[in-house]
Amino acid sequence: MRVAKRVLVVEDNELNLKLFCDLLRAHTYDTEAVRDGRFAVDRTREFMPDLVVMDIQMPHVSGLDLIETLKRDTSLRHIPIMAVTAYAAKGDEERIKAAGAEAYVSKPISVLRFVREVEGLLGQMAIPD
Ligand code: MN
Repeated sequence: MRVAKRVLVVEDNELNLKLFCDLLRAHTYDTEAVRDGRFAVDRTREFMPDLVVMDIQMPHVSGLDLIETLKRDTSLRHIPIMAVTAYAAKGDEERIKAAGAEAYVSKPISVLRFVREVEGLLGQMAIPD
């Protein structure tokens, strides 16, 4: 039996958080929701996910700063991070990648693209085009 992969979702918007978690659970992932970015690093340490889905625009703390913090931590830097952001301005993807995220999906998300990126990062079978 395959042990379910674990995904930590950091997202301040309740509707997006529910959408991402429902989608991940439908694909048999275990999810852990974090609504306040200030708790994201501690929760990552506790939950030890196989993947972090990270909103960029949040109150109190930027997802970009959180990505940098996670990638500076030698015990957490191996965990792939998929950034999700409504901002699609030129250069955003580069800034997110420069911060250390492995992937980037823009909001409103394409469900297919979201799932494909997650499965790609977790080294699982991708949904064919
Ligand atoms: Mn947000």
